[in-house]
Amino acid sequence: MTTRIVAIDGPAASGKSSVARELARQIGFDYVNSGAMYRAVTWHVLQRGINPADSNAVVRLLEESRIDCDLVQGDSRISIDGVDPAEHLRDDRVNEEVSRISSIPRVREILVTEMRGYAKDRDIVMEGRDIGSVVFPETPYKFYIDASPEVRLRRRIAQGHRDQIAARDRVDSSRRASPLIIAEDALVIDSSNLTIEGVVGEIIGRLKMKGMIIS
Ligand code: C5P
Repeated sequence: MTTRIVAIDGPAASGKSSVARELARQIGFDYVNSGAMYRAVTWHVLQRGINPADSNAVVRLLEESRIDCDLVQGDSRISIDGVDPAEHLRDDRVNEEVSRISSIPRVREILVTEMRGYAKDRDIVMEGRDIGSVVFPETPYKFYIDASPEVRLRRRIAQGHRDQIAARDRVDSSRRASPLIIAEDALVIDSSNLTIEGVVGEIIGRLKMKGMIIS
């Protein structure tokens, strides 16, 4: 079955989650948050008392854990060994360690397989860091949402989270395995002075231009 994939990448707090979710709602696709998958794995590692710096131990744990990826009312969900850590994904300690865990190539391999599984039989909007560059390089629908560092920091503070977004971006952009990059054929949208609706509007305009949406 040929399915359609809209890839939305960008740095931390660029607004891509809100945009991706609203876009999915408007075009009737399912929404997959790949960052939540890396966060869930990070929480699991911490919960099991594994040192995040010990990549062999992290990989060992994941290889013997059961990872279930699902959709609940059009939204992606992940549970590990039967536990859905949804409430803990924004915990300070998860924010602190997620970039380290997601820089481990085998962790990425395991999760990328799950991500591709979502698109097997359904149309999806997926957001992350490497969706257009690595996970679905063949999709013609790629977007990179950016915003100035000041705006991004302000957004995170407004959400009430303590999050070292500059430090995460540094690690995410400089790691060897699938770093955050702008895919060659992605449309870059600076959301600094745009509302969520404004960004979604630009994306929908582009999808219409490409013939994905007709109306
Ligand atoms: O999108 P979010 O900020 O929740 O992602 C949390 C972390 O997960 C990122 O800082 C990054 O380290 C990792 N991530 C990734 N690749 C993705 C999505 C997220 O490495 N596709």
